[in-house]
Amino acid sequence: MTEYYSAKEMLARLVSFDTVSRNSNIPLIEFVESYLNSHGVRSHRVQNSDGTKTNLWASIGPDADGGVILSGHTDVVPVDGQPWDTNPFEVIEKDGLLYGRGTADMKAFSAIALSLVPEMLKAKMKRPIHLALSYDEEIGCLGAPSMIEDMAPKVKAEAVIVGEPTMMKVVSGHKGALGLTTRVRGFEVHSSLVHTGVSAVHVAAKLVVWHEQKMLENKERTENLPETVLFNPPYTTLHCGVIEGGTAHNITAKDCSFSSDFRVLPSENPMEYLEAYRVYTAELEAEMQRIAPSAKIEIEVRGNVPGCRREVDGSAERLVRQITGDNAEHVVSYGTEAGQFQDGGYSTIVCGPGDIAQAHAANEYLSIEQLNAGIDFQRRLIERLAS
Ligand SMILES: [Zn+2]
Repeated sequence: MTEYYSAKEMLARLVSFDTVSRNSNIPLIEFVESYLNSHGVRSHRVQNSDGTKTNLWASIGPDADGGVILSGHTDVVPVDGQPWDTNPFEVIEKDGLLYGRGTADMKAFSAIALSLVPEMLKAKMKRPIHLALSYDEEIGCLGAPSMIEDMAPKVKAEAVIVGEPTMMKVVSGHKGALGLTTRVRGFEVHSSLVHTGVSAVHVAAKLVVWHEQKMLENKERTENLPETVLFNPPYTTLHCGVIEGGTAHNITAKDCSFSSDFRVLPSENPMEYLEAYRVYTAELEAEMQRIAPSAKIEIEVRGNVPGCRREVDGSAERLVRQITGDNAEHVVSYGTEAGQFQDGGYSTIVCGPGDIAQAHAANEYLSIEQLNAGIDFQRRLIERLAS
């Protein structure tokens, strides 16, 4: 049986699936598959290794090049410990606002697209719309790369629109994020004989100071460049948020580990920072091993989300500017899958309904006004692809 939903009803359906990233998103995907199926739209799963989560992509309209990919993630952040006034997994409408986890970030964009599938089919589009729904975006954009790899040879699109909440503003850039865990193995001796031991705490401290120094250099170097002024702050930041090590004040610490992240301007290469860090780490390691051959430093890359680069005359930006009429320059401070689509060869822009200020918070909401702006936008997109 063919199923029809308004955008609001579809949003309520999507929100009702508890797709916090630690859970499987398969029940939501099964619902979407069966809905698309009811309209004769075939979809493709690209699963994770153990089959507990999956991306889903589908093409609507003709088998032609030059269409548009609408990208949304299906997972949401947890609600644990947040003071919600309503059930987060039910959309509650109050005073023109739709409350629920994922209403802003970012089930509304996907819900609008899904609810408009019947209109897309009726519009006789000359170029297709592709839906790309990912998993595990909120825990480091882990799902999208395999889907993009699967799509890239088959789907030649002129634009990818990542529907993260931007209040329907055209966002053409954000920083990338590289997350690291560094583990220092020292050599334990009584601190009165410190010259015969290796303190993992001291070595880790030097590495943390390296972060700070690199950041200060960056500030000096890029603070006043025209391509960085929109970013806040206008330079690549390096920060250590957690550190743990040592057992007693009078023992040179055997272990010390810390987590840090590099938030890298899209005009810079995160791998160059990682390389510089490895070079310094190797220097320290050689010094440590002169005292204790077992001493070492290990670097684990926890995550690497590429930045979204401002494209020169990008087709996605042009298209979305024409539809929204927004010609201002915007960048955002949060990460998205946009850089991954760019790495896959797609011209990409971020533009979607809702305000990032409500994302991840208790009582997350999307205003009806933003929902309608999102519907308007996608309807105009359909019109363009039909003309
Ligand atoms: Zn999001």
